[in-house]
Amino acid sequence: DRIIAAGATREDEAVEASIRPKRLDEYLGQQPVREQLGIYIEAARKRGEAMDHVLIFGPPGLGKTTLSHVIANELGVGLRVTSGPVIEKAGDLAALLTNLQPHDVLFIDEIHRLSPVVEEVLYPAMEDFQIDIMIGEGPAARSIKLDLPPFTLVGATTRAGLLTAPLRDRFGIVQRLEFYEVEDLTRIVRRSAQILGIDCAAEGAGEIARRSRGTPRIANRLLRRVRDYAQVRAAGHIDHDVARAAMQMLKVDPQGFDELDRRLLRMIVDNFDGGPVGVESLAAALSEERGTLEDVVEPYLIQQGYLVRSARGRMATAKAYRHLGLKPRAGRND
Ligand code: ADP
Repeated sequence: DRIIAAGATREDEAVEASIRPKRLDEYLGQQPVREQLGIYIEAARKRGEAMDHVLIFGPPGLGKTTLSHVIANELGVGLRVTSGPVIEKAGDLAALLTNLQPHDVLFIDEIHRLSPVVEEVLYPAMEDFQIDIMIGEGPAARSIKLDLPPFTLVGATTRAGLLTAPLRDRFGIVQRLEFYEVEDLTRIVRRSAQILGIDCAAEGAGEIARRSRGTPRIANRLLRRVRDYAQVRAAGHIDHDVARAAMQMLKVDPQGFDELDRRLLRMIVDNFDGGPVGVESLAAALSEERGTLEDVVEPYLIQQGYLVRSARGRMATAKAYRHLGLKPRAGRND
C-alpha cells in the first residue's frame, strides 16, 4: 500500500490513539478553525447548552476525527464515534441517539454515506431533538415520537459537495480544514516524536514535514518509518540526512509524491497529451477507483499547482511537466 496514503491503516489507528491531541491548544495549525471553534465552545459552556451542530470537511488525515475529540473534551461532555456506512438502519441511529447523555457529542464520519432513510431520521433529531420511529409492521404499525437529550452532531466528510442540501443546511457551524503548512507539520512531527520517545532533530522533523503532503496522518506515519530506518542505520537518531535517505528508500520524493502521483501525472502527459481528460478515463487507465483519485490523490496535486480540474477534465500544468523532467507543451501558458 502507499506509504503516503491518507487513509488510516490499522497500525495508524493503534498509534493515533496515543498521539491524538485532546485539547484545542494541542491541535496545531488550522488557526482560523481553532479560533472560531474556541469561541463556540466557550459560548456553549457559558450558556450551559449543547453546542450547535458542526460540519467539518477536508481530505482524509487532516484531523476531522481529532477535532471531534477535542470538541467533546473541551466541552467536558461524552463522545460517541460512528460512521455513515456503519449506521445501516433507522433503528441503529435511533439506538445511538437515545443513549446519548445531555450535551454529548455524536461524531459521524463519512456522513455523506448515510442512507436516505437514516438521513430522514436525522433531520428532526438535529432540528428539534426528536425522532419519529415506527413500531410494529403492517396494519398494526404506528409511529411514535421520542424526545432526545440535546446533543451536538459533528459530521465529517471529504468533500462538501457530497452532502445533500437538507443535511448541510442543518449544521449551524461549517468548518473546512486546509492542508497544513510545513511549519505546523514540523511542530506536529516534533510533538509526536516526543510522545513516542523518538530522537528527532528539528531538521529531521522539517524534512519529514515537507514530504507529508500537508497531512498530519502521513507525517506521523513517515516519522515511524524513518524511525525504523534510523534505528538500523543511524543509532536511532533522526537528522536531516537520515530523514532524506529513509524517504528515498520509501520512494517518497521531495514534493511528497509517490509512484501513484507520478503515474497519474505521467499518464495525463503521455497518454492524453497533457489533458484535458475526464476522471473516469483517467481512473480506468490507472486501474484506480475514481473516488481514490478525487479524494486522496488529486486534492494535493491541485493545491500544489501540478494539476488543474476544469469542466472538460484534468490537465497537467507546466509545473507537472517540469517535475517529470519534461519541457512544458508548446502554446500552454499555465
Ligand atoms: P481525519 O479524521 O481527518 O481522517 P484524524 O483526525 O484521524 O484525520 O487525524 C489523523 C492523525 O493526525 C491523528 O491521529 C492525529 O494524531 C494527527 N493530527 C490531526 N490533526 C492534528 C493537529 N491539528 N495537530 C496535531 N496532530 C494532528
